Parts: sequence; C-alpha cells; structure tokens
Amino acid sequence: MNSQDLCRDAASRLRARDAAACGAVGRSVVAALDAAFAAQRAGGARIACAPGCAYCCHQRVGVFAYEAVALLQQMRSTLPLAEAGAIERRILVNASTIDGWTPEQHRAANLRCALLVDGRCAAYAARPSACARYHSLSRARCEHSFDHPEDIGTPRNSRPALAELQELGNSLDSAMEAALADAGLPATKTELHQTLRALLKDSSAWPGLTPSSTP
Ligand code: SF4
Repeated sequence: MNSQDLCRDAASRLRARDAAACGAVGRSVVAALDAAFAAQRAGGARIACAPGCAYCCHQRVGVFAYEAVALLQQMRSTLPLAEAGAIERRILVNASTIDGWTPEQHRAANLRCALLVDGRCAAYAARPSACARYHSLSRARCEHSFDHPEDIGTPRNSRPALAELQELGNSLDSAMEAALADAGLPATKTELHQTLRALLKDSSAWPGLTPSSTP
C-alpha cells in the first residue's frame, strides 16, 4: 500500500473517532515505516541505532491528535497499571515544564520523554511516526548533539538520519494531513506531552480509550 492509499484508508477508519481506530491506524503507520527500515537495513544501510540508545528520545516530538490517542491506548492496554500511572504523572510534569519554554528552549533542554523506560519506548508498537522514521547513521553525532545543545541550529549539532525513512515519513505526514482534514479531524501536529496532557484531562472526543488508573 502506498502513502496515499494508506492515509486514505486511515482517514476512513478514523471517521469512527474512537480509540480502537486510532490504535489500528497508528500501528499501521509504524508498521509501514518499520518495513521500509527493514528493507533499508537489508540493503546495507549503516544504521547506528541499537537497543538502549535513546539520545533521540530527548528531543521535541510533534504528534497528530490520533497518534496521541494511539500511544495512550497502547500504554494503558499493555502496561501494568502502576507503570502506566507513573508515565501519566511524568507526562503531566513534562507538559507543565514545556509550557514555560519556547520550542527552541525545549529543543536545547534534552528533556527526557515521559514514555522512555529503561532506555526503551513504553509504547513502541504505537510510537509517533516522528519517532519511527528517525534512524541515525552516527551514534557519535547523536552523542555530540546531546552533549552540546549550545550548538543547536549549527552544522556541529546535526544528527545524520536515514534520508529514505525521513522522506517516507514526510510523505506520510502530507498524505495524512489531507486525509485528516477531509475527515474533519485535527490535522496539525502539536507537542507530544502537551497533546497527551489534553487527552488525560478530557478524552471525551475519543470514545473507547481505556480509563486511566491514576486518581
Ligand atoms: S514516544 Fe517513545 S520513541 Fe518517541 S521519544 Fe518518547 S520514548 Fe522515544
């Protein structure tokens, strides 16, 4: 299925506006990016990413609203209640911290993602497409970028990513924006924690979301 078909199918499913549809679409987008990644790796792409390396999980991430629903549903339906509750509390703390920053300050802060647990994403199968498309070609450059946020915006700060996956992710975003707008759904990306906080406070627009265990 190409990007246009995948996103048309997604928009049609998302018209249901429920958590199950968001989860299915989120996982299908991640699966498409993972399949493209596997093909690149099989073709000899020199990927530096490895389990436990999480420099990129300290960056600013933008998500569509449906991706945040998918992420929360994945977390609540697969993690022990106490772990999901701890992550939800971290989401609220991070969102409130980010409220006081400009996007540039956030990008320079190396703020650890609330979903990062023991070096891994707690909702990996439904992680945002911005995360699934990112595969580094140099761990040393990621490390330098992490250690020297003052270099942000300069060539010294660049993190070399696998271009084919970035291009596929961008093309999926464009097709998804059009499809979401057609379906009358939010089609603009917003910051991950702030989007999740809005959902934690009021998820009535997305029926079927597993309830939180946190008070
Ligand atoms: S959502 Fe998951 S993959 Fe994305 S930054 Fe957070 S921990 Fe990392």
